[in-house]
Amino acid sequence: MVSTEPSIFTRILRGDIPSEMVGETENVFAINDIAPRAPLHLLVIPKTEKYRNVVELAAGDPELLAEMIGLANTLAMQHSDGDFRLVFNTGAEAGQTVFHVHAHVLAGGLSEKSVSD
Ligand code: AMP
Repeated sequence: MVSTEPSIFTRILRGDIPSEMVGETENVFAINDIAPRAPLHLLVIPKTEKYRNVVELAAGDPELLAEMIGLANTLAMQHSDGDFRLVFNTGAEAGQTVFHVHAHVLAGGLSEKSVSD
């Protein structure tokens, strides 16, 4: 069944759930992940929840995907050394828990870790 409730990220964007906004563009915003898995762990999220995952987003609005990557790059430069890992969990079996597309931006001390760590 498809949920008609606003996603947790939409509720954060509306201010219904507290979270510090760490960056924003016209169509995208970023917050700190509540359970960080790297020294810098941000979530970069489109303001629309129209796209459930990155495959839908890339097909439906590639410019919005590019805007997400641009904000990820800006924030990795501001808050770390500019290098970063971008992760889009896609599907429950891959660990996706929030079906409002978002990029995990991981940075800081990752060079010794493989992608599966
Ligand atoms: P995913 O598992 O790829 O769907 O990612 C969802 C992410 O959202 C997880 O890394 C959670 O830690 C994060 N998360 C869940 N609730 C919050 C919240 N209230 N504030 C910030 N991050 C959250």
